[in-house]
Amino acid sequence: MARSRALTRSVAYLSTFALGGALLGALFGHAALGLAIGLLCWSAIHLWQLQGLERFLLSRQRRVPEGIGSWRPIFDALDRRRKRERVRRQRLFVALKAFRDAARVLPDGVIVLDQEQRILWFNKAAKRLLGLRYPRDMGNPIHHLVRMPRFMQWLAEGKLDEPLIDLPCPVDESLRLSFRLIGFRAGIRLLVARDISTLMRLEQVRRDFVANVSHELRTPLTVINGYLEALEPEELGDYGDLFLEMRKQSRRMASIVEDLLTLSRLEAQSAPLDEAVSMASMLDSLRRDAEAISKGRHRLEFHRSCEADLRGSSKDLHSAFANIVVNAVRYTPDGGNIVVEWSTHPEGAAFSVRDTGPGIPEQHLPRLTERFYRVSTSRSRDSGGTGLGLAIVKHVLVAHGGRLEIESKVGHGSCFRCVLPQARLALEGD
Ligand code: ADP
Repeated sequence: MARSRALTRSVAYLSTFALGGALLGALFGHAALGLAIGLLCWSAIHLWQLQGLERFLLSRQRRVPEGIGSWRPIFDALDRRRKRERVRRQRLFVALKAFRDAARVLPDGVIVLDQEQRILWFNKAAKRLLGLRYPRDMGNPIHHLVRMPRFMQWLAEGKLDEPLIDLPCPVDESLRLSFRLIGFRAGIRLLVARDISTLMRLEQVRRDFVANVSHELRTPLTVINGYLEALEPEELGDYGDLFLEMRKQSRRMASIVEDLLTLSRLEAQSAPLDEAVSMASMLDSLRRDAEAISKGRHRLEFHRSCEADLRGSSKDLHSAFANIVVNAVRYTPDGGNIVVEWSTHPEGAAFSVRDTGPGIPEQHLPRLTERFYRVSTSRSRDSGGTGLGLAIVKHVLVAHGGRLEIESKVGHGSCFRCVLPQARLALEGD
């Protein structure tokens, strides 16, 4: 629209100058000269306006020059665009300022890092939680300023999906921090530091409470169990069945308390023992446990294709492996097969237990290691389970740098695999 207006005006002005010049020239008997002068004037105006446009575009001048003739609509359009852009820039500036102000007052420390982990920007909370100073620390790599080994290793690994939890605050030892890395543009990442001291304190209160309650329950339960074990059901006549149920439930309660105490101990320890664990003896012991519970009802196979032994807490590793083996025996119906194997794995070695039991529906798999999580409460209770077995397995494995993998298909059976890292392996005789 504007272009056609400029063109129309340009043609009109050209005609005016050409005709005007020619007519004026004709008055003096030099029409051609007049026409030439008219065209020259027209060209001069164009050149002048062109120069004005160039000067305007190259300078920081805000005001758009006044256009003449065919240049007027062009300069007007330029002026309108300038004003629109100014309004847009102002809005952007206000939004950016609001965002920066919000980020500045966030209770979490926010630090913007480039590919080399250099600090591009940080907020007030980052100053408070990590002791960063402006402008001294701008452009410095964050790991030169926050020099905690766990933090440095985690940052180097660049795990965006795994937060780093429970680190002491470098400024105030009484505070505990968690860190999270968020990628938001190619090479640029946000490091978010959060004060989780209250959460950690609550977690400690919970742990202490469970540990204390379990501990307090243990003694009276031992006494009750002692009496119940001493009595014979035949001596109680009609109450015999009732007595047997009492004994069964009392044993179950004692097992729950023992498992809770084991979990509390595992949670409280910073690192497991580092003793040699013979896998040959471990498999023998597990075989005896499995045979004692199965009583010949299952086909049990034990294989050892990995020569290496383990380093860690013998007691905890036995408890973890036994839990999986005992579960397989408990949940696999009579006549089923159970294959226990200690084999090599790309990450180190794996202790796996495969059964031909009922299998576990897929939706339950991610939650099996939660405390008291059961696929079927009645089945678990009937089998004498406490609902804490797999939680113990997970804790033991994590403490040893390993992990638990569970594969299962309903109607086909399950496979529980404890993967242990190379660092935990010891060749025989080590
Ligand atoms: P529990 O003491 O109840 O066995 P666990 O933590 O050891 O508790 O196991 C959690 C749940 O996982 C069990 O209740 C059971 O439903 C399921 N489960 C564990 N092992 C097996 C298995 N080999 N086959 C089928 N289900 C299993």
